[in-house]
Amino acid sequence: MSSGTTTQFRVVTDRSRCCGYGLCAVICPEVYKLDAEGMVYTDAEVIPAGLEEGAREGAAACPAEAIMIEPVTV
Ligand code: SF4
Repeated sequence: MSSGTTTQFRVVTDRSRCCGYGLCAVICPEVYKLDAEGMVYTDAEVIPAGLEEGAREGAAACPAEAIMIEPVTV
């Protein structure tokens, strides 16, 4: 049993800013998906364990700054 709180992170995408470059999905396809129009979306509300680094790299690579990573306290 663990004590205290665990901070997880979630991805918030702003599809109105997404320009469909697809860099996020190339860097971290486990987190970032592209729809039929090439716009970003994510399946998971909370970034699965082990994918945080990739998710951050994908967010940092977005030229449109359409991806934000926010802490979620559970
Ligand atoms: S890198 Fe940014 S602009 Fe490109 S698909 Fe991903 S969210 Fe959209």
